[in-house]
Amino acid sequence: AVADFPATAPATRAERPETGVVGADVRIPLVTGEHVDYANFDYAASAPCLVPVRRALEEALPYYASVHRGAGFHSQVSTEAYERARRSVARFVGARGDDAVVFVRGTTDALNLLARSVPDGCTVVVFSGEHHAALLPWQHRAGRAGRVVRLPLPASPAAAVDAARDALRTAPEGPRLLCVTAASNVTGELWPVEELTEVAHAAGARIAVDAAQLVPHRAFGLSSSGADYVALSGHKLYAPFGSGVLAGRTDWLRAAAPYLAGGGATANVTEDDVRWNDLPARHEAGSPNVLGAVALAAACDTLSAAGRDRLHEQEQRLLDRLRAGLAAIPGVHDLSLWGAGHPRVGIVSFVVDGLAADLVAAALSAEHGIGVRDGLFCAHLLTRRLLPPSHSQAVRASLGLGTTEEHVDRLVGAVAELAARGP
Ligand code: PLP
Repeated sequence: AVADFPATAPATRAERPETGVVGADVRIPLVTGEHVDYANFDYAASAPCLVPVRRALEEALPYYASVHRGAGFHSQVSTEAYERARRSVARFVGARGDDAVVFVRGTTDALNLLARSVPDGCTVVVFSGEHHAALLPWQHRAGRAGRVVRLPLPASPAAAVDAARDALRTAPEGPRLLCVTAASNVTGELWPVEELTEVAHAAGARIAVDAAQLVPHRAFGLSSSGADYVALSGHKLYAPFGSGVLAGRTDWLRAAAPYLAGGGATANVTEDDVRWNDLPARHEAGSPNVLGAVALAAACDTLSAAGRDRLHEQEQRLLDRLRAGLAAIPGVHDLSLWGAGHPRVGIVSFVVDGLAADLVAAALSAEHGIGVRDGLFCAHLLTRRLLPPSHSQAVRASLGLGTTEEHVDRLVGAVAELAARGP
């Protein structure tokens, strides 16, 4: 019956593919007192909300209510919005008909849930360059017998495929899982996910894809790629913090103990026993983040409606402009695992000879109104491997839907000025 209330139910489907971000017109003070518009180059950390995401939240807020067990109108509307959001996200990740779509807090949460769900004795293969969210949960699996094989950074995409094939083939009998990033949060470089999926499946293993940095820039489909699991974060996808998804094969997730024990995950509780719910509720204990799911779905719908290829082309032009600009500045080095020609999403990490990364980042902010990130980006092993010996940290500039040519030119000009000024 709730489906009969389209006029009042909050919409998670973007009607118009507007891709403006909230806050694009905010002006910020420089150290000189002058005000400029904020040149945000920190999308890879968290992307600001899309305008249709804000609208979806405004439409949902009047119906604020807990979902699933409420008989009241608001609860019914919120339940419908929550489950509709799940269907939107399922479409966005190209889920197969029988895949689970579990709402979680983000990619870290998603991969920890998967780590808790792999069968006992599972061998998990990862490359050492992963973001810590994809590198560490496997080791952290409390009390499970299993093995984590950490592969060194491969010299090329083909070497990555070979290394994964060897590791999976020589793993002990039993369940095996390869976990890999689709796009690096340090270099933006794309990993050969489809080839890795093939070698995983040929070895009788599964593959989990950390798509946190890919899906803000490119489409990814479970069914088209053949991957078994995908994890993503709403706050990197133009929705607010606190929502994310693990989607994929149901059997391991269904057989696993609930990720969190509590209400919502339970079908029946007696003095002596607990009967847990089936998926997805099994792993969604507690009152779910309905607004987070609605926002995430609105972002997914908006990006899909806008055309992923068109958005990618726009970003590629800006990325090429940024990389060409930085490459022309003496003393600036762009970090890359597989060379300048390898395709990447809109992420560039770099260092400037003679200048510490934190100083560069601070000067870009205070003097030019540019927001970048400096550090090792939660991928310490990869970033340290790529840094020249004279540096202990890098600067990362990442692009998104609010990035303009003026921002790119401002960043290139500012880095050139800092490099010329020297220590
Ligand atoms: N994986 C990659 C590639 C990331 O870039 C990030 C965040 O920086 C994560 C996982 C973790 O995402 P979250 O902090 O949303 O859990």
